[in-house]
Parts: sequence; structure tokens; C-alpha cells
Amino acid sequence: MDIPFLNLKDINARHADELKAAAARVIDSGWYILGQEVAAFEREFADYCGVRHAIGVGNGLDALSLILRGYKALGALHDGDEVIVPANTFIASFLAITESGLVPVPVEPDPVSFNIDPIRVAAAIGPRTRAIMAVHLYGQLADMAALTELAERHQLLLIEDAAQSHGAASHERKAGAWGHAAGFSFFPAKNLGALGDGGAVVTNDSLLAARVTALRNYGSEVKYQHLYQGINSRLDELQAALLRVKLKYLDEDIAKRRHVARRYREGISHPLIHLPAVADEARHVWHLFVVRCAQREALQRHLQAHGVHSQVHYPTPPHRQAAYPALHELHLPLTEQLHDEVLSLPIGPTLRDEDVQRVIAACQTFEAAA
Ligand SMILES: *Cc1c(COP(=O)(O)O)cnc(C)c1O
Repeated sequence: MDIPFLNLKDINARHADELKAAAARVIDSGWYILGQEVAAFEREFADYCGVRHAIGVGNGLDALSLILRGYKALGALHDGDEVIVPANTFIASFLAITESGLVPVPVEPDPVSFNIDPIRVAAAIGPRTRAIMAVHLYGQLADMAALTELAERHQLLLIEDAAQSHGAASHERKAGAWGHAAGFSFFPAKNLGALGDGGAVVTNDSLLAARVTALRNYGSEVKYQHLYQGINSRLDELQAALLRVKLKYLDEDIAKRRHVARRYREGISHPLIHLPAVADEARHVWHLFVVRCAQREALQRHLQAHGVHSQVHYPTPPHRQAAYPALHELHLPLTEQLHDEVLSLPIGPTLRDEDVQRVIAACQTFEAAA
């Protein structure tokens, strides 16, 4: 039996009875959009993150876009303003910026943590810079102490793309509680995954929270009165009810991911496979376990031959995507090298010990191509 990269069926099967009861509750209620379940989930998720407000939206990309739109509406951002963003992030971080009429300024990562390098961020700050979008890549917080200091010194907005880092923390402060606002995704494969699309904006900024709450719902606070040109991007009652079940188990799931990561880090010892560096083991939530290998394709084929599925996050950096011809001339050597070398091993809360052992054994028998 092959070891899948992530077994969503197993993950949700553990809570099938509770999930079905939650779904039945919504079906029977007759109320499907912006009701009690969304309100309750927003309260519970805000408490979990340690922030005042959470606003349920349609997906993670919309969460980020709504933060930027919200700050534009509040006068803190203007068309053409620059937003510093990690060069090696998922495309959504870039799309949120460009979709909002802002300009992404990609910055290379720290080669050890893969997260945005504050020294390079400082060097990229110019007269048009108005915001930093930090991405907590793979489940580990970016260096938020350094980024907070930079943002304060230069009066920049600090926004977190927390789509991979539900529950991750640094200095006891969780992802989402560091910046002016943060966007989360509940895409099924995320650490807190719905059974469909979903997302949330979290913030301590009451003005932003009110604006995003209106913008996600046609720019309306009172039915049929439209204060702003909003969009339709709402977390629905069904997903909210399912997420309320899954939120209860998030910390347990994170502990299981940490256990898998610990075993990989103890068990894989190979001159060609570079293990991920960890700033604070107890705070990393291991959305992905990403190794680096100069012979990535050969390693992936070798693992596949041993029944181990792996994935690449991501094969092409945003500045090299067809969607962004204007960015093609950028030269970001570290990011380009990372995209050639990264490989994500299976990790998740239902991965069995014997499967972890098989992944380790498969890695250990990898032989360099001549
Ligand atoms: C998944 C992800 C998103 C987007 O979330 P969706 O819900 O799929 O829109 C944004 N940023 C990062 C870093 C992600 O991993």
C-alpha cells in the first residue's frame, strides 16, 4: 500500500459522527449564510488565535485581499503602494496584492528557515513601501519580532499570511496575533481544514474588522443598504459548523504532526537530503515537512518507487509564473534554487508510525545519480 502525501479521508473519518451531526444541525436549521454557526466559529477562532476579531470569508486568498481592500478603504493604502512579500511564497500572497491595485516587492528568504529575511526586507524598504506581508511558510512563524520592529520604525502595515500556520506561535503569541491583521485559509488540506473552501481575517483593529465584515457581504451592514462596493465572500454556515468540530482537535493534530517531524529529523540522516531547520520545535506546526535535495527529481522518483508520495511546494516561484510577465526580469537566485530543490514528505495527524518508518527507510536508501 502506497503512503499518500496527505490522507484527507482518514483525517475527517476520525470525526465523522461529530461532523455529520454538525452538518445535520445546519441542514435542519434552514439558515445557511451568516448565521449562528459563523458567529460562533468567529468567536472561537478569535479566542484560539488570541485576537479580538475574526471574520469568516470565502477562502484564504479573499482573506488577504479583503485586508488590503479594507486598509485602502480606511486610507492606509493607496493604488500603486508597494507591499514587501516573500519571493518563495504560494501565488495567493502575490495575487492578493496585485488584485488590490498594489505592487508586490518580492524579497528572498533566509536560506535556513525558508521564511522572509528581515535584513533583506530592511534593504527593500523604499519611499513607496507601505506594508510588509509576512508569510509563515510551512508552519513556522517568520521572524515577527524583527519584522514588527521594522514595521514600527518605518510606519508600515504588517500583514500576516497565516494560511499554513494555524496555532503556530513565537514568544507565546500565535500566528495572527502579531501583525495589524492576518489572513487564514481553511482549504481542506490546511492544518485546520474545512470540507470545502473557507478563510478568515483576524485582527485587533476594530475599524478594519468592521470594514471587512461589510466588504465580504456586498459592502453592507444593513440588508439592502450598500455603504461600499463590496464583494461576496462569506464563510458559509455548513463550513463554519464543520470547522467548529475540527478546531477542537487542532492542538492534538499539531502534536501529532510534531511527533512525525521529530521522527523524520531523528531518523533521516543522508548527505544529499537537507532537513528543515527549526527555530522553536515546540511552536512549529509542520503544515509541510520540506527537505532540500540538489537531485530532487531523482529523490522523488526513488521515493515513488518505494510507495512514498511526495509533493513540491512549489515548482515555480511567483515571479516566474506566466501570470506575472512584468516580474520575469527579476533575479532572485536563492528563491529559484529553493524551487529546484524542495521536496515535501508526507506529514499529517493520521500518518502511522510504521508509515513514518517506511518514509525514513526510503530516504535512507536513496543513492546519488552518477
Ligand atoms: C493556501 C494558501 C493561501 C490561499 O488559501 P486559499 O484558501 O486556497 O485561497 C494563501 N497563502 C498561502 C501561503 C497558502 O498556503
